Amino acid sequence: MWYESTPFSLREPIQYLLTPLYIRVHARDTVAIIVHPDGVASGDNLGDGITARERIPQAHKIALREIQPGDPVLRYGQIIGHANRAVPAGSWVREEMLVMPAAPPLDALSLATEIPVPERALEGYTFEGYRNPDGSAGTKNILGITTTVQCVAPTVDYAVRRIKTELLPRFPNVDDVVAITHSYGCGVAIEAPGAAIPIRTLKHISLHSNIGTRPLIVSLGCEKLQPARLFAGEMPGGLPIFGEDNVIRLQDYRGFAETVAVILRAAEKRLELLDRRRRESVSAASLVVGLQCGGSDAFSGVTCNPAVGYAADLLVRAGATVLFSEVTEVRDAIHLLTPRAANQDVARALIREMRWYDEYLALGKADRSANTTPGNKRGGLSNIVEKALGSVVKAGSSAIRAVATHGERVTSKGLVFAATPASDFICGTQQLASMNMHVFTTGEGTPYGLALVPVIKISSRTALAEKWPDLIDIDAGRIATGHAGIQDVGWEIFRFILEVASGRKQTWAEHWGLQNALSPFNPGPVT
Ligand code: CA
Repeated sequence: MWYESTPFSLREPIQYLLTPLYIRVHARDTVAIIVHPDGVASGDNLGDGITARERIPQAHKIALREIQPGDPVLRYGQIIGHANRAVPAGSWVREEMLVMPAAPPLDALSLATEIPVPERALEGYTFEGYRNPDGSAGTKNILGITTTVQCVAPTVDYAVRRIKTELLPRFPNVDDVVAITHSYGCGVAIEAPGAAIPIRTLKHISLHSNIGTRPLIVSLGCEKLQPARLFAGEMPGGLPIFGEDNVIRLQDYRGFAETVAVILRAAEKRLELLDRRRRESVSAASLVVGLQCGGSDAFSGVTCNPAVGYAADLLVRAGATVLFSEVTEVRDAIHLLTPRAANQDVARALIREMRWYDEYLALGKADRSANTTPGNKRGGLSNIVEKALGSVVKAGSSAIRAVATHGERVTSKGLVFAATPASDFICGTQQLASMNMHVFTTGEGTPYGLALVPVIKISSRTALAEKWPDLIDIDAGRIATGHAGIQDVGWEIFRFILEVASGRKQTWAEHWGLQNALSPFNPGPVT
């Protein structure tokens, strides 16, 4: 096997050997990343007897000692590749110098062998949320109009523009009106096994905690994804599926103006109900926080992701649910995660999700190495192994309590693996099946946002936070420069989550109204 028999535990305190010039994560590592924004120049002395042999840009790797051809190259105490040439100490270690290891074999993993002991519970943390009939709590109070098919999206968008200008000002306790539009619903093999994924995703989004868990649906009439299929014949709470207070079928009406008027009438009734709701103190245990990274760089795994991991541990201690996702960014670190499963069934479910995705990628004649982007590589990440080792740090150090498959609603508390693709907007869409708060780390930067939940963006580098002060909510780059510790930033993230969930603070994505389109994952055939 390519990996160590005793895997590096993420619970071990990560050893930060910090000088102003480089960061080595683990004592065993043979490479470190350059911290200074200008990089280092040939002949620069980094201390500890290390001298740069050439110019190396920020976030890229320097060889800490001589590496022979065939030697493993270690970062995070793990093998990120084998050298395909002799690499003198002080050299720039680049992608083309590494042979990527195979992914950890799925039939040789330890199952629930190192289950972390729960840390002391954090009592008394609350936020001001909206209580829902199903026991969940909203972090916002939104009128969401669900659609069964893309064909109706422009009509609903038009209606929502009018609702916002003509009706919403009369309902001051409602935060927003959102058209829940998407690219699915027709022209697909609706009975194919893969169709279950987008359908259950859209069902759970339609019942989202931030829209009061009661959907208002706009359907076309002739589409494959009929409202009855979306909800299996009945609205939640036993309300009949038909009736224009709940479902508006466009093909039933005469002309566009009448159709829009029907949508406005239904919206007004819902706004009256939503407007009566008030924020109340609810336990932090009602938070369902989806974690994601996008535009990662080599700093992500040593600054923002460990800080988010620390916040994840705090959330778990406060009784909340924390979702980590992105199968292709977990696959190469799976040997670090199956030992942390709360029991063998959970470990096997993790393996099931990895295997399913391996097979899905193989059908498209690809594998997990297709994940990395030009931006990742510019940011110093050589391959998916290095990216995954930095990505899973977001999951902190708790036991993995449950696994949800694609689009499934998570009901467990604690740390949960919710399978999704790693694509930012597809992952976010899938996580919306469960989450009421989103935490997003980035190295290269993205203005990503979602309509239904607040998106808190955390930068891996201070340079990004300074370049985009009106998009990045929290700068974790201070960890690399020694201006803050992982724990400090972790607590800051935890407290910021509670403030945002209470509506007392706004994220930049909310401030600017940045709302990426929903993109349900559809592995099924299109007809
Ligand atoms: Ca992502």
